[in-house]
Amino acid sequence: MDCIFCKIIAGEIPSYTVYEDEEVKVFLDINPSTNGDLLLIPKKHCTTILEIDPATWKHMLEVIQMLYPKLKEKLHCEGLTIAQNNDYGQDIKHFHIHLTPRYPDDLLAHQFNKDLLKSLEEVHQILTEA
Ligand code: AMP
Ligand code: ZN
Repeated sequence: MDCIFCKIIAGEIPSYTVYEDEEVKVFLDINPSTNGDLLLIPKKHCTTILEIDPATWKHMLEVIQMLYPKLKEKLHCEGLTIAQNNDYGQDIKHFHIHLTPRYPDDLLAHQFNKDLLKSLEEVHQILTEA
Protein backbone atom coordinates (compact mmCIF):
# COMPACT_ATOMS: atom_id res chain seq x y z
CA MET A 1 0.00 0.00 0.00
CA ASP A 2 1.28 3.44 -0.88
CA CYS A 3 0.98 4.89 2.61
CA ILE A 4 3.69 7.09 4.13
CA PHE A 5 2.90 6.01 7.68
CA CYS A 6 2.88 2.30 6.77
CA LYS A 7 6.32 2.93 5.25
CA ILE A 8 7.45 4.59 8.49
CA ILE A 9 6.23 1.54 10.42
CA ALA A 10 8.08 -0.76 8.00
CA GLY A 11 11.26 1.33 8.46
CA GLU A 12 11.30 2.29 4.77
CA ILE A 13 10.99 5.99 5.68
CA PRO A 14 12.91 7.34 8.71
CA SER A 15 11.16 8.87 11.68
CA TYR A 16 12.14 10.33 15.02
CA THR A 17 10.45 7.60 17.04
CA VAL A 18 9.88 8.34 20.73
CA TYR A 19 7.76 5.31 21.66
CA GLU A 20 6.86 2.03 20.00
CA ASP A 21 5.21 -1.26 20.94
CA GLU A 22 3.45 -4.11 19.10
CA GLU A 23 0.37 -2.01 18.40
CA VAL A 24 1.41 1.62 18.02
CA LYS A 25 4.20 3.99 17.14
CA VAL A 26 4.79 7.58 18.28
CA PHE A 27 7.09 9.89 16.37
CA LEU A 28 7.84 13.57 15.88
CA ASP A 29 5.64 15.40 13.38
CA ILE A 30 7.89 16.51 10.53
CA ASN A 31 6.18 19.91 10.54
CA PRO A 32 5.74 20.67 14.25
CA SER A 33 3.42 23.30 15.66
CA THR A 34 5.26 23.27 18.99
CA ASN A 35 8.34 21.56 20.46
CA GLY A 36 7.59 17.86 20.81
CA ASP A 37 4.61 17.80 18.44
CA LEU A 38 3.92 14.08 18.07
CA LEU A 39 1.91 11.68 15.97
CA LEU A 40 0.51 8.50 17.52
CA ILE A 41 -0.44 5.86 14.96
CA PRO A 42 -1.69 2.28 14.99
CA LYS A 43 0.59 -0.21 13.25
CA LYS A 44 -2.40 -1.79 11.53
CA HIS A 45 -3.49 0.52 8.72
CA CYS A 46 -6.92 2.07 8.94
CA THR A 47 -8.11 5.53 7.98
CA THR A 48 -10.72 7.08 10.26
CA ILE A 49 -12.32 6.92 13.68
CA LEU A 50 -15.01 4.72 12.11
CA GLU A 51 -12.45 1.99 11.45
CA ILE A 52 -10.10 2.08 14.43
CA ASP A 53 -10.23 -1.07 16.52
CA PRO A 54 -11.72 -0.17 19.95
CA ALA A 55 -9.00 -2.15 21.76
CA THR A 56 -6.33 -0.20 19.86
CA TRP A 57 -8.12 3.08 20.67
CA LYS A 58 -8.08 2.12 24.35
CA HIS A 59 -4.39 1.29 24.12
CA MET A 60 -3.74 4.66 22.48
CA LEU A 61 -5.38 6.36 25.45
CA GLU A 62 -3.05 4.43 27.78
CA VAL A 63 -0.05 5.48 25.70
CA ILE A 64 -1.15 9.13 25.86
CA GLN A 65 -1.59 8.85 29.64
CA MET A 66 1.93 7.43 29.87
CA LEU A 67 3.49 10.02 27.55
CA TYR A 68 1.90 13.23 28.83
CA PRO A 69 3.72 13.25 32.21
CA LYS A 70 6.97 12.55 30.35
CA LEU A 71 6.37 15.48 28.02
CA LYS A 72 5.70 17.68 31.04
CA GLU A 73 8.84 16.48 32.77
CA LYS A 74 11.22 16.60 29.80
CA LEU A 75 9.90 19.46 27.68
CA HIS A 76 8.30 21.47 30.49
CA CYS A 77 5.11 21.86 28.50
CA GLU A 78 2.13 23.09 30.46
CA GLY A 79 -0.60 21.37 28.49
CA LEU A 80 -1.37 18.89 25.74
CA THR A 81 -3.74 19.43 22.82
CA ILE A 82 -5.05 16.23 21.24
CA ALA A 83 -6.42 16.35 17.70
CA GLN A 84 -7.46 13.77 15.17
CA ASN A 85 -8.70 14.56 11.67
CA ASN A 86 -11.12 12.35 9.74
CA ASP A 87 -11.65 12.59 5.98
CA TYR A 88 -11.82 16.35 5.31
CA GLY A 89 -8.71 17.91 6.81
CA GLN A 90 -6.94 14.57 6.95
CA ASP A 91 -3.92 14.77 4.67
CA ILE A 92 -2.47 11.36 5.54
CA LYS A 93 -5.06 8.62 5.22
CA HIS A 94 -3.50 6.45 7.92
CA PHE A 95 -5.28 7.01 11.25
CA HIS A 96 -3.25 9.29 13.50
CA ILE A 97 -3.64 11.32 16.65
CA HIS A 98 -1.82 14.64 16.95
CA LEU A 99 -0.31 15.11 20.42
CA THR A 100 0.74 18.72 20.66
CA PRO A 101 2.49 19.92 23.81
CA ARG A 102 1.32 23.39 24.78
CA TYR A 103 3.40 26.23 26.13
CA PRO A 104 2.42 29.69 27.29
CA ASP A 105 2.66 32.08 24.32
CA ASP A 106 2.92 29.26 21.74
CA LEU A 107 0.35 31.16 19.66
CA LEU A 108 -1.29 27.89 18.59
CA ALA A 109 -4.82 28.77 17.60
CA HIS A 110 -7.49 27.24 15.41
CA GLN A 111 -8.61 29.57 12.66
CA PHE A 112 -12.22 29.35 11.61
CA ASN A 113 -14.67 31.25 9.46
CA LYS A 114 -17.37 32.74 11.68
CA ASP A 115 -19.40 33.69 8.60
CA LEU A 116 -20.11 29.98 7.99
CA LEU A 117 -21.68 29.46 11.41
CA LYS A 118 -25.37 28.90 11.92
CA SER A 119 -26.96 29.96 15.22
CA LEU A 120 -26.66 27.54 18.18
CA GLU A 121 -30.46 27.14 18.07
CA GLU A 122 -30.39 26.06 14.41
CA VAL A 123 -27.55 23.58 14.89
CA HIS A 124 -29.20 22.15 17.99
CA GLN A 125 -32.45 21.70 16.05
CA ILE A 126 -30.63 19.92 13.20
CA LEU A 127 -28.77 17.59 15.55
CA THR A 128 -31.70 16.63 17.69
CA GLU A 129 -34.58 16.33 15.19
CA ALA A 130 -35.63 12.79 14.37
P1 AMP B 1 -3.27 15.47 9.01
O1 AMP B 1 -3.38 16.75 8.25
O2 AMP B 1 -4.12 15.41 10.22
O3 AMP B 1 -3.44 14.29 8.09
O4 AMP B 1 -1.78 15.43 9.57
C1 AMP B 1 -0.73 14.80 8.91
C2 AMP B 1 0.54 15.16 9.65
O5 AMP B 1 1.56 14.29 9.22
C3 AMP B 1 1.02 16.58 9.38
O6 AMP B 1 1.10 17.28 10.62
C4 AMP B 1 2.39 16.38 8.75
O7 AMP B 1 3.34 17.35 9.15
C5 AMP B 1 2.77 15.00 9.24
N1 AMP B 1 3.70 14.28 8.40
C6 AMP B 1 3.62 14.07 7.07
N2 AMP B 1 4.64 13.31 6.64
C7 AMP B 1 5.39 13.02 7.73
C8 AMP B 1 6.59 12.29 7.95
N3 AMP B 1 7.23 11.66 6.94
N4 AMP B 1 7.07 12.19 9.20
C9 AMP B 1 6.44 12.82 10.23
N5 AMP B 1 5.31 13.52 10.09
C10 AMP B 1 4.78 13.63 8.86
ZN1 ZN C 1 -0.88 3.13 6.39
